[in-house]
Amino acid sequence: MKKFYVTTPIYYINDIPHIGHTCTTVAADILARLHRQLNEEVFFLTGTDEHGQKVAECAEKEGIDTKNYCDKIAPTFINAWKSLEISNDFFIRTTDPRHEKVVGELLQKIYDKGDVYKAKYEGLYCVGCEKFLTESDLEDGHCPLHPPEKTVQKSEENWFFKLSKYAEQLIDLIENDNYIFPEGKRKEVLAKLKAGLNDISLSRENVSWGIPLPWDKKQTVYVWFDALINYYSATQFLENKEGFWPADLHLLGKEILWFHTVIWQAMLLSAEIELPKKTYTHSFYMIDGQKMSKSLGNAISPQQLVDLFGVDGARYLIARSFPSENDSDVGIERFKEKYNADLANNLGNLLSRVCKLGEGLIVEEVKFEIDKKYIEQIDNLKFDEAIGWVFENYVDKSNNRLNEVTPWKLEADDAKRIEVLTECAQNLRRAAAYLQAVMPGTSEKILKQLDGKIRSLAGGLFPRI
Ligand SMILES: [Zn+2]
Repeated sequence: MKKFYVTTPIYYINDIPHIGHTCTTVAADILARLHRQLNEEVFFLTGTDEHGQKVAECAEKEGIDTKNYCDKIAPTFINAWKSLEISNDFFIRTTDPRHEKVVGELLQKIYDKGDVYKAKYEGLYCVGCEKFLTESDLEDGHCPLHPPEKTVQKSEENWFFKLSKYAEQLIDLIENDNYIFPEGKRKEVLAKLKAGLNDISLSRENVSWGIPLPWDKKQTVYVWFDALINYYSATQFLENKEGFWPADLHLLGKEILWFHTVIWQAMLLSAEIELPKKTYTHSFYMIDGQKMSKSLGNAISPQQLVDLFGVDGARYLIARSFPSENDSDVGIERFKEKYNADLANNLGNLLSRVCKLGEGLIVEEVKFEIDKKYIEQIDNLKFDEAIGWVFENYVDKSNNRLNEVTPWKLEADDAKRIEVLTECAQNLRRAAAYLQAVMPGTSEKILKQLDGKIRSLAGGLFPRI
């Protein structure tokens, strides 16, 4: 059986889930579900990143023990994904002792390889990103992703990883056996690599909330090194998941491109572990023309989407607006319009017309294979195109046919009426098969309505908002 292993980033636990986390997770879920539908053996991993200074600070602010704080926040992610019917096979938490053990083993390999040395580090550090900043990272002297007070001067003795040693090998890999998608991101990484690479510290001296270094227990593993290893560690400690490494696809947001396409790969090269086959780095959501930010309070939460549009409505809107290569501008009002136009007035209305007019008609099953181009588009995160094609081909066409033939004006036993309703029912069955990965509940409902014969529909598929 063909294996397919897809990951989301593990989400940093100082935050609560918003539409940014949601789109990566829904995207991974669509891929996982499609590959299961294609009879592949799938491993879909998501989870939370729970170490580092920032988490310790959050816990301190709330006056609770750091592990208790993690135990309190991790379920907000677990439950958000449950409410969206995300089908992850495992939820990894970096405070899991089984993960911590693999982190120690992998770093020991890097140490044994001679790729580690001790040195003093001095520079600007963003506590929000948990990383040292270079000149090119700065905007107005601080990290552009976080408030200015998060950028601090830091000086400490750290263990360094010889990242620069792998620069040429990485350039060669990206040029010849590329794993960075889409193309714009490949170019970006390549240009930065060619501009020169500094070594990077892999430990922290004064951060106690972390995994102790195997060879120097006074230092803890830099949270990024710890977090990246989750993709590999899960395949080592979960018994039925061995054989899944290397991952087929890491899904990422653009703020973590560098860590996942350069540092992670270099760590694996050093530890002599196979590299993931592909990374896909998507862009961001804008909310009503503005950057999403805590200070503006304009983030959309997954719960808000589910409450307004239902599980499948939320999944559909995320998929259609997915910020693949460019930022995607969305807003609740525009989501409402899209929901009403596509789901209530188009797909939902088609099913309700077919069920009302065609009740009792026999619908023979049509054997067909999922179109290769559709699979390719989903694999390349082109959800809008893929779903748009399904709507055009099966849904719009059927609604147009109904409007043309107007079966409601024909007698119940009129051959033309029977023909057009049967045709529309077949098209709905095909649409349901295609949309199974995107809207699993809706797909099931449609197929149930049209299984063998057309059944009367109680209520609507998508109530108008
Ligand atoms: Zn930052």
